[in-house]
Amino acid sequence: MIQRSKKIILLTLLLIAFAFVAMARPGGGHGYSGGGSWGGGGSFGGGGDGGSVLWLLYLLPPEISIPLIIIVVLYGIFRRQRPAENFTMVSTPTYTNFINSSMAVAREISQLKALDHNFSRVLFLDFVSSLYMKFYEYQDNKKMLKTLNPFFDKQLLDRFLQDPVRFTIKEIVIGGMNIERITLGEKVRIHLRIKSNMTIVANGRPMRYIIDERWTLERDRDVLSPGPEKMHTVTCPACGAPADFNDAGYCSHCGTLIVPGKKQWYVVARKVFDFSIHSTQSMLTYAQERGTSLPTVYDPYLQAKKDQFSSIHGISWAAYEQRFVQQIVRPVFGEVYKAWSGLQWNRVRHLLSDRLWESYRFWIEAYKDHGYRNILDVHIERVEVAKVEIDRFYESITVRIYAQGLDYIIDKNGKVVAGNSRSPRRFSEYWTFIRRSGVEKDQIDMKHCPACGAPADRIGQSGVCEYCGNKITWGDFSWILAIITQDEEYRG
Ligand SMILES: [Zn+2]
Ligand SMILES: [Zn+2]
Repeated sequence: MIQRSKKIILLTLLLIAFAFVAMARPGGGHGYSGGGSWGGGGSFGGGGDGGSVLWLLYLLPPEISIPLIIIVVLYGIFRRQRPAENFTMVSTPTYTNFINSSMAVAREISQLKALDHNFSRVLFLDFVSSLYMKFYEYQDNKKMLKTLNPFFDKQLLDRFLQDPVRFTIKEIVIGGMNIERITLGEKVRIHLRIKSNMTIVANGRPMRYIIDERWTLERDRDVLSPGPEKMHTVTCPACGAPADFNDAGYCSHCGTLIVPGKKQWYVVARKVFDFSIHSTQSMLTYAQERGTSLPTVYDPYLQAKKDQFSSIHGISWAAYEQRFVQQIVRPVFGEVYKAWSGLQWNRVRHLLSDRLWESYRFWIEAYKDHGYRNILDVHIERVEVAKVEIDRFYESITVRIYAQGLDYIIDKNGKVVAGNSRSPRRFSEYWTFIRRSGVEKDQIDMKHCPACGAPADRIGQSGVCEYCGNKITWGDFSWILAIITQDEEYRG
């Protein structure tokens, strides 16, 4: 009886952890993180079917039930978090509250910039995504994990260091990062929601998981953010060398003691909202468009930022916007969808940020593996500017693109297996382009390196042009597309 109830508890946990989510696609009805697929929507846990699923699991052969049990174990590890974190979203998730919270964050960022004129949201997100990747990649190498100690609360990191190595993590894809809230007290805290998916190999079995979590980063109030060279990746905030710190927190390159929060952000809390299996089989499901009819989320400082942009570049905003849409948005949109439909993702390597390119590359590979191709024969209907951001290092422009066209999936023989190849569908997405401040180039050459003009055919995963050696995917030479957000997910 005890054995049996243990098993029931285990299986119940398993059911809670168990959720299938929709496949991510640009232009997709479900989008990368949209469609309710990340949350509890698809979970088997709360449903009335629990009993019958439980019963079915009893009948499963061990080669199926054992990996399922592994999930439960992983779930326990991944949920490990600091209970002390008391941040809660006060509002219910209605669209109005969504917009209000995005307004609040815009105000909080401008307050933070008043304290730290080097603060750049673009660079902050770069830094956190680099830290995030390393944190998970190093889970099977505690020695490496330990070298990140200036960037984590000691207790938090210790919990992961003390765990025996039980799995390896690879192919980490960060789907979305949103600043939820910034608190400016004696310390500055940024609460960030991160949605990702990754392959976890346990007992030799790889499986894809999704994680939805909040990381809270903290820093002293009077810190001036380091420049891009120390923010694009996790480096020593003193000397800029790749992060390599001994147990006491001294940099192995320059010997400086890096105390958490004194010069750079560090993670003080981590809270997991969802950890579940991600099935690529769901790439064939089409969800209803949810966000297309929602009103556009405009940045509260939009007009002031447009004016600032005009005065920096000596051009009226109206003229610039027209140029931007014609020479940047439309050509990049066309090229991205062409590359996606043709499964030729390398074609757009020089046009996309590393994170964006990587996140979609994973899905391109998944399509290839299954012998599918997602044809998106779409065109832009209209473009609206939603946000202009200017900081010391970067400029960014976010547009909402309304588009329509055919969207369907074919197999190896050209047979339509999902979607509709006859009737077009409408959708909208927010596209964020970034460019290094001081760069004036307003045209993107689809076929050539923006730095040296050589053909853009030798740009590897790292975004470095082999002809000139320049890293071109940070926007140092021209506008690049940094983020695509589904309309129902966009928070400003
Ligand atoms: Zn150093
Ligand atoms: Zn080049």
